[in-house]
Amino acid sequence: MLNIVIFGAPGSGKGTQSERIVEKYNINHISTGDVLRAEIKNGTELGQTAKKYMDQGQLLPDELIIDILASTLDNLKDSKGVIFDGFPRTIPQAEALKKMLAERGQDISVMLDLEVPEDILMERLINRGKQTGRADDNEETIKKRLVVYHSQTSPLKEWYKKENKYEQIKGYGELEVIFADICATIDKVK
Ligand code: ADP
Repeated sequence: MLNIVIFGAPGSGKGTQSERIVEKYNINHISTGDVLRAEIKNGTELGQTAKKYMDQGQLLPDELIIDILASTLDNLKDSKGVIFDGFPRTIPQAEALKKMLAERGQDISVMLDLEVPEDILMERLINRGKQTGRADDNEETIKKRLVVYHSQTSPLKEWYKKENKYEQIKGYGELEVIFADICATIDKVK
């Protein structure tokens, strides 16, 4: 089983690189952001709740997102592994993921931290907002998401270092070079 956590600030390229990883290693992709956007699109009750947090650039409560992740994971059949994109984002979420995998006799193989300077993140997200119209990719909400990232999410780097799972990847420059670095790191732990 290859279980990868892809980590990084908003705009660090988690989604883009996940797509490539999925194709090459034939594993499943769970993006909590994509799951929530699908719920919003389908007009579900969960989507309505999620939208309130997402529009404010805030995280959903841990209990809620942990339940969503658990049921998404349970729905995967015959999986060779999973790339977790956008989860965990807090220490309680990381602990919950560890427990969930342990209950299935599994573990995280590696945590890949895509490191990107803040000015490049801003530029990427503003461009994405213009191209896709994604509701939370406007300057005001982006700034809030970056604050939330620094206060609630980046402490996970230390957490995964203690678990001996942490690997930093330079997340800017040529897409192909970033992907090659990622593959070299995955191949070491596979
Ligand atoms: P990005 O990494 O660009 O911020 P995502 O698509 O991963 O984008 O997440 C968008 C929003 O969805 C977050 O700002 C948050 O409101 C919500 N969300 C996604 N994943 C989580 C999570 N693990 N915990 C809490 N909220 C989450």
